[in-house]
Amino acid sequence: MKNLAQRLDERRRQSLYRFRRIADSPQQPLMRIDGREVIGFCSNDYLGLANHPDIIAAFKRAADAFGVGSGAAHLINGHSRYHHQLEEALAEFVGYPRALLFSTGYMANVGIVQALLEPGDAVFADRLDHASLLDGALLSRARLQRYPHGDVTALEAKLAASRAADRLVMTDGVFSMDGDIAPLPALAALARRHDAWLMVDDAHGIGVLGEGGRGSLSRFGLGQGDVPILMATLGKAFGVAGAFVAGDETLIEYLIQSARSYIYTTAMPPAIAAATLASLDIVRRADDRRQRLRENIAAFRAGVAALNLPLLDSETAIQGIVVGDNAAATRLSEALFDAGFLVTAIRPPTVPEGTARLRLTLSAAHTAEQIERLLDALARLASPTDAP
Ligand SMILES: *Cc1c(COP(=O)(O)O)cnc(C)c1O
Repeated sequence: MKNLAQRLDERRRQSLYRFRRIADSPQQPLMRIDGREVIGFCSNDYLGLANHPDIIAAFKRAADAFGVGSGAAHLINGHSRYHHQLEEALAEFVGYPRALLFSTGYMANVGIVQALLEPGDAVFADRLDHASLLDGALLSRARLQRYPHGDVTALEAKLAASRAADRLVMTDGVFSMDGDIAPLPALAALARRHDAWLMVDDAHGIGVLGEGGRGSLSRFGLGQGDVPILMATLGKAFGVAGAFVAGDETLIEYLIQSARSYIYTTAMPPAIAAATLASLDIVRRADDRRQRLRENIAAFRAGVAALNLPLLDSETAIQGIVVGDNAAATRLSEALFDAGFLVTAIRPPTVPEGTARLRLTLSAAHTAEQIERLLDALARLASPTDAP
């Protein structure tokens, strides 16, 4: 038997131990966590919708009408009117013929990739792709080939050399730890040229980027013809839970028949789907929130630049200050917590060795004053010695 206690000790020594803080308030900038009032800069609730009264009301109405549990998988009798309506509304929103709901983004990615690929196929993943995409690739037992982050030339060489039966290129739209946007037009052109599928995981782009919040594809003017498989999650900017994949009729029907994480699991509660419909209504009309978010990002970046801290290049709500050393990143996060700010330190294996960082996320719900206070705290606590 492996010595688990020893492995835990090892993690503690490397400053890699992870623990949970307990929240006693809804998701919003000002939170009560571990008994303290703090301003959070780590939620993915980019538009401030997780605690929106209209979405809460829709959730309650649906719970009164349909109860709580969905009772069974979608293919048994768990597929409610709300789930179905949400799929139709999401497909229409992103401009694809069909959409299919999954209970979580993790399950969606694992299910999609595993269903589409088999041994003898090849899958090409950006180095910084989300873990759930990689897990799907491993489960499919197709040949996994990772290319350097955003490196279209390296990907092209790998595609050209591949003799696999089917090829899938998969990428985050917005990279979850760095906040930069994938070179989607170049990836789409490459996938077309090499007769490969292209799948984009837009967990951090949907609701936030593009026209009406339609996501990373819309930001570049791309659509279904360029990206045949679009996946996005509903627990971030949408402020609810779950995920969906959008594609053509054949793709969606195939996934319904074969995505194991879709078939062998209980459908999400119908009230979640109803709440997400309400959220979608707000997201479509949330240009004011998206504008506030952009202003908050700009204010934060200008402030950090003035402090000379190593800020990653990102125009999105995800902002990284690279510290390098695991222990130093943890210390800085703890010092910020003591000063009243919740900012998580992200360490390997979530990010590459030697790039431990503060990962900050901004929301439309943050006030200018909250951002200023964070910048003041960073000026006091993040010494240049923390730079790599
Ligand atoms: C959060 C996230 C997921 C997982 O979605 P969940 O709904 O939280 O399971 C998948 N991909 C990316 C890029 C993510 O950031």
